[in-house]
Amino acid sequence: MKKIILIRYGELSTKKGNRNFFVKLLAKNIKNVLKDYEVVIKKDLYRMYIDVDNKYIDEVTNKLSKVFGIQGIVKCYKVNTNTEDIKNKVLDVLKEENVMNFKTFKVNTKRADKNFEIKSMDFNNLIGSLILKNTDLKVDVHNPELQINIEIRTEGTFISLNEIKGIGGYPVGVQGKGLLMLSGGIDSPVAGYLSLKRGIDLECLYFESPPHTSIMAKNKVLSLANIINEYSGNVKVNVIPFTKLQEEIYKNVPDSYIITIMRRMMYRIAERLLKIRNCKVIINGESIGQVASQTLDSMIVINNVTNIPVIRPVACMDKLEIIELSKKINTYETSILPFEDCCTIFLPKHPVINPVLSKCLEYEKTFDYESLIDECIDNVELITDLNPKNFDDLL
Ligand code: ATP
Ligand code: MG
Repeated sequence: MKKIILIRYGELSTKKGNRNFFVKLLAKNIKNVLKDYEVVIKKDLYRMYIDVDNKYIDEVTNKLSKVFGIQGIVKCYKVNTNTEDIKNKVLDVLKEENVMNFKTFKVNTKRADKNFEIKSMDFNNLIGSLILKNTDLKVDVHNPELQINIEIRTEGTFISLNEIKGIGGYPVGVQGKGLLMLSGGIDSPVAGYLSLKRGIDLECLYFESPPHTSIMAKNKVLSLANIINEYSGNVKVNVIPFTKLQEEIYKNVPDSYIITIMRRMMYRIAERLLKIRNCKVIINGESIGQVASQTLDSMIVINNVTNIPVIRPVACMDKLEIIELSKKINTYETSILPFEDCCTIFLPKHPVINPVLSKCLEYEKTFDYESLIDECIDNVELITDLNPKNFDDLL
């Protein structure tokens, strides 16, 4: 029996003025995700129908479950809008979908086509008694295990069983692009995922310090980018060669301020790159109080180098909450692979937790960081192909 996938938008359909733009973007994102399948997509301002060969329906549903902006995914059967056809089809559907495991049911009719002669409540009763007669299911209107939805529209009637929950959020890209500072840790991939969820598409920025950091550390970051790219399709990674600048910092700055100054340099570079790459905000995985550079006092002094908004999606989450989310989005196992990051090499024993801005300025005067930043920007490597074949075997 031919099935069709129906998509409900949820939150975005409440944004009246933007609805058209949101829906167009969502359709574009869906097409992108389903580019390997032959699909026909029909959309209006409230829902989308995706027609694909039955044999791909589960694969396609799986892909759709990672598309932000989708609230619900419903596999449904279409039938002509007339009572006899609907009655026959409902019984066929119950046969085809294995409903043996369910004990209770409820029929939920929506009559969008007001010309249809039977009212919703009456139609619920009609179909309900048909099911009672022909199956072992019992009615439970409050807490049914199986909901049978019948949506009566002029263009046809759609019969479906339980809805699959979509991932929610806004269509990726609706807010433009952000520059994610992506390290190999647990926090920043989660921060990236949460930004995508609110409609910010991503470019990533990774600071590498060879030979202090290895090719494996870089590949780990690319793997993480590839995992979060499942929610976007457009993620790119900018790799900044950070070694020289980092070594100058170690040479010229007192131990306790090394991390503070290093992070100020990272923000400066992020701001420069953001402008070149057309991003609107900086995003990172800082979490308040997690380490010395993430106390509010440190954040103020570090953030002082830029006016660009810095979005910190995991700022107020506990580490355990971040870990839970990283497991859910499948980045955790990669994040805990043991490769050194540029922040963890030569970690000072006592990093300052309440740095003073004037001291930072004083230390930064002692070396020509501007030209080193220019060099970083001139030598950035842009990676657009996140095909794991390029890096997985090196992990
Ligand atoms: P963890 O998950 O272990 O905390 P982390 O990557 O969050 O690792 P932090 O030292 O807490 O490490 O760094 C705070 C944030 O700074 C990161 O979440 C990331 O956004 C950014 N960052 C740190 N190191 C790098 C790097 N090498 N390249 C790009 N961004 C980085
Ligand atoms: Mg962290």
